[in-house]
Amino acid sequence: MAQSCDVLIVGGGIAGLSLAARLGNDMQVAVVEAESALAYHASSRSARQLQPSHGPLPIRTLTGRTIAAVEDISAHIGRRILNDRPLIFTGTEDDVAARLAASDVLQRISVDEALSRSPELRPEAVQAAALDDSALQVEADVLLDYYRDQALGAGVQIHCNAPVHTAQQVSAGWTVGAGEEAFHAGTVVNAAGAWADPLAIIFGVRILGLEPYRRTAAVVDTSRPVAEDGHMIRGADGSFYYRPEGTQLLISPCETVASQAEDAQPITADVDRLVERINSATTFSIKNIVRSWTGLRTEPGDGLPMVGYDEEAPDFFWLAGQGGYGIQTSWAMADLAASLITGSTTDADPVAKALSPLR
Ligand SMILES: Cc1cc2nc3c(=O)[nH]c(=O)nc-3n(C[C@H](O)[C@H](O)[C@H](O)COP(=O)(O)OP(=O)(O)OC[C@H]3O[C@@H](n4cnc5c(N)ncnc54)[C@H](O)[C@@H]3O)c2cc1C
Repeated sequence: MAQSCDVLIVGGGIAGLSLAARLGNDMQVAVVEAESALAYHASSRSARQLQPSHGPLPIRTLTGRTIAAVEDISAHIGRRILNDRPLIFTGTEDDVAARLAASDVLQRISVDEALSRSPELRPEAVQAAALDDSALQVEADVLLDYYRDQALGAGVQIHCNAPVHTAQQVSAGWTVGAGEEAFHAGTVVNAAGAWADPLAIIFGVRILGLEPYRRTAAVVDTSRPVAEDGHMIRGADGSFYYRPEGTQLLISPCETVASQAEDAQPITADVDRLVERINSATTFSIKNIVRSWTGLRTEPGDGLPMVGYDEEAPDFFWLAGQGGYGIQTSWAMADLAASLITGSTTDADPVAKALSPLR
């Protein structure tokens, strides 16, 4: 017999869990996750950065709101789960100027200041530099547990091993088969990450062109000691970033390579090339790779997430396409989605308008 709920959220990553936490007290909510564990895909594979200078204006607005909310969550937990992690872009004059032009948060700093803040940088690799002094790092695992616990505390039913395989539109909502479970839901939320378009196909809903892109990261040991409170450094040309991970270094080639929706895995040659790139820009002298992983960042052509009801399919709500911003916008994007679902915000809200699937 089908279980009834007001809202069925498909996807137990940070998008689905944050929405369940936000909506659980107002409506009867269930979450279905295909994997045996929550947040198995992109949400457990991020660099865990909250960068106020990152992304277009609607993203920066949501990031600011999320940072304020995570400060409140820290107070609730009794421990600050945010750490200051100032970010420096380095590279050629042209590349740094382009970064400065795209952000009202970044400020130019001199090459000498960049080298004194991050003495491991090779002087010949830094023609110019820009600083985001407000960038933060979050304990994303704790944030995910908080969202899950808030949802469970509000009575949300969370089902793992429950991939959605069938869906049918009925007079008031949808009947949905997920693993061994069956649901009748007034509204279905598509929070399926890289599988957002494939999920729409199961529902017979027009896809929105959400493309998954690979992004690899690795943790490495270095010959030169890593300062645990050191800066995050990004190549202004988008060819690498690194930051301390305890006494080790977290590194990424920042690649954006189209992929199918899958359990993405790193390619050894990519990681080896990345090590060479970081060794050429710094004096860290990377000794060995401790672990590496790849996740999928999924976004539509214009790079902005899709948050809102589908244009044609009634009661089908998109919460997808977060790209590289899903952690840093999580609370505010869930708040926006919940407000649209409960009707307390309309598409007229400027951020809602920018992220609407109707745009
Ligand atoms: C290397 C890397 C670094 C990153 N760094 C950052 C960062 O510093 N800051 C930041 O903000 N973001 C970062 N991101 C992006 C961030 O990780 C994502 O935007 C975010 O995790 C997306 O969350 P999600 O819940 O939409 O997707 P996911 O976590 O992938 O969750 C979607 C879930 O839906 C489930 N699902 C799919 N189909 C079905 C189905 N049919 N039935 C049931 N369940 C289904 C999947 O199993 C999956 O668990 C990074 C990403 C990568 C890969």
